[in-house]
Amino acid sequence: MSTVPSGPKADFVWMDGELVAWDDAKIHVTAHVIHYGSGVFEGCRVYAHPKGAAMFRMRDHVRRLFESARMLRMEIGYSQEEVLDAIRQTVKANKLKSCYVRPVVYRGAGPMGVNPLRNPVKMFIAVWEWGKYLGDDALTQGVDVCVSSFRRMAPNTHLPMGKVCGNYVNSSFAKMEALLGGFAEGILLDHNGHVSEGSGENVFLVRDGRVLTPPFTSSILSGITRNCVSKLCREMNIEIVEQPIPREMLYIADELFFSGTAAEVTPIRSVDRIAVANGGRGPITERLQSAFFDVVEGRAVDRFEWLEFV
Ligand code: PMP
Repeated sequence: MSTVPSGPKADFVWMDGELVAWDDAKIHVTAHVIHYGSGVFEGCRVYAHPKGAAMFRMRDHVRRLFESARMLRMEIGYSQEEVLDAIRQTVKANKLKSCYVRPVVYRGAGPMGVNPLRNPVKMFIAVWEWGKYLGDDALTQGVDVCVSSFRRMAPNTHLPMGKVCGNYVNSSFAKMEALLGGFAEGILLDHNGHVSEGSGENVFLVRDGRVLTPPFTSSILSGITRNCVSKLCREMNIEIVEQPIPREMLYIADELFFSGTAAEVTPIRSVDRIAVANGGRGPITERLQSAFFDVVEGRAVDRFEWLEFV
């Protein structure tokens, strides 16, 4: 009798240039990444658009993957264009209209020990169908979150702007604590005590008609959805400011929301059991959310060139 919930499944995984059957996509137990977290990855989405499967800002994700690899001194043996083609090939082979895309570049099996420099740089791309990350009602009802007791990594410890496998131990601590405490997500503060981000999302707050979000110096990941929110705000003439945010602003915000590839644009309805304003989705959040989904689902013109068809 197994109590392990089933994971995602698709037909093929792209591994170092070849499509292999899902169940055969394995790496060796001595791979450096397993022991020391020496990998970088991306989380990207392909949307079911009326014109076909639409890759969302995939070039930006691939660029960030290369930038994260650079921080870890890993040379990817492909060009960004080749990686984009490999993603396209993987989505096509799995015949998926919409999916989540997970490219991982990692240090594989080789000499054992902390030094990663002599281990081969390997890569795989897995895709699978994935629904609403924070629950089915999250997008309309909002989620309940807590301020985590875990701090986001300080800039002189890890490199928070890199999407590095090992960084996600920090996120996992925050996520476990939140879930076990009855919350959907935790918001981590940075090393100075200012608001940083969720375990897998950037965070925004609205106060007096302005949208505020923490700057890069608050140990955040440079979210691609975060950038979409900025662009949509500017288009709607809503003032958007990047500034350090004290924790207590979370309790007196008019609106709060998360952005992320998995979470998309998700309203937050309470923090530490204090309701955000009236405890529902706020009007600015709703406008930004609608504008976002209108583009990815094909109801609005893709004026920012976010989509590229498989
Ligand atoms: N912060 C963290 C820690 C994340 O894991 C993610 C998800 N990649 C984000 C923010 C949001 O980034 P993006 O919008 O690029 O998915």
